[in-house]
Amino acid sequence: MSSDIPIRVRPAIAALPPYKQGKQAGAEAYKLSSNENPFDPLPGVLEAVQAATSLNRYPDASAARLRAALAERFGVDTDSIHVGAGSVSILAQLVQAAAGPGDEVIFAWRSFEAYPWLAIVAGATAVQVPLTAGSRHDLPAMAAAVTDRTRAIIVCSPNNPTGPIVTQAEFDTFVDTVPADVLVILDEAYAEFVTDPDAVDGMYVLGNSGRSNVVVLRTFSKAFGLAGLRVGYAVGHPRILDAARSAAIPLSVTLQGEEAALASLTVQDELLERVSVIAERRDRLAAGLREAGWDVPQAQGNFIWLPTGEESLTAAAAFEEAGLIVRPFAGDGIRISVGEDASVEKVLGIAASVVKSLP
Ligand code: PMP
Repeated sequence: MSSDIPIRVRPAIAALPPYKQGKQAGAEAYKLSSNENPFDPLPGVLEAVQAATSLNRYPDASAARLRAALAERFGVDTDSIHVGAGSVSILAQLVQAAAGPGDEVIFAWRSFEAYPWLAIVAGATAVQVPLTAGSRHDLPAMAAAVTDRTRAIIVCSPNNPTGPIVTQAEFDTFVDTVPADVLVILDEAYAEFVTDPDAVDGMYVLGNSGRSNVVVLRTFSKAFGLAGLRVGYAVGHPRILDAARSAAIPLSVTLQGEEAALASLTVQDELLERVSVIAERRDRLAAGLREAGWDVPQAQGNFIWLPTGEESLTAAAAFEEAGLIVRPFAGDGIRISVGEDASVEKVLGIAASVVKSLP
């Protein structure tokens, strides 16, 4: 069939490559390419999913029970919570609600790959502000990039794929300089893995800064290990969340997703113990890599960043050869998720031998 068919697609969309997922792993390999949780869901969570019947009926479009449970967890009103099919779908709603053609969306680069893509799909201009030499957000430069056309700014802490957090002090100073009518999206997809006491805490910002233009994004995909079920949430001012809901495709959270998220909240202590185990593996991995001479930036998510530069694709291939599927970012580095315990030693071994001997 000819691929050349007469359909008009917006030029901005036609120019976009489709979203590329981290590689899947074969039976023998460790999949460390998508920052997933290596632990299986807890039995209670699986049971809740299996108990979700009435699949012939639509789920509750407002996910009221889950919103109420999250509201209780964070001590906010139910109206201050919005849920969606993964936090990336809420990110899309927020960007579309805030920015259109002629508008600008600012974010750090390199950061989560969906950011430029979502801005472009919304018809807006993506303004990418380079990270500092330590692979951190350059918040003063991001503040300086604000113009009359800026409608949204995305701050990712810890930053995917490089790892460092934004500090509370840096964020407070930054948000004070941003006009009150510009949406600031604080993407905390990896918040639960953070152990640095200086890190920004979105819930603290919402409770204490008096800034109603900040919205915090979190997810059940990472620490809570439900990536396959697609549940994320936003916490913020109801007016912002109403705008996101207006831009949303209705009925996006599935029945099983809502049940699994609710069940996860009831066993969150156990899940957060696993998060500590993953954070400990991460620290072991980062320390081992630094000892081997790698310049690994601060790692506060469930992944670490190897600055392999022009050798990134070759390095990823070397890891893959050894049964470790990692995520290369051509010309920049590779991101390695923290996975099963045995994968830590394996990554250290490969990083020390094969990758180190690259030209
Ligand atoms: N934000 C960041 C920074 C991420 O890395 C991801 C997932 N890779 C997401 C948001 C989206 O996660 P989800 O849609 O699964 O909630």
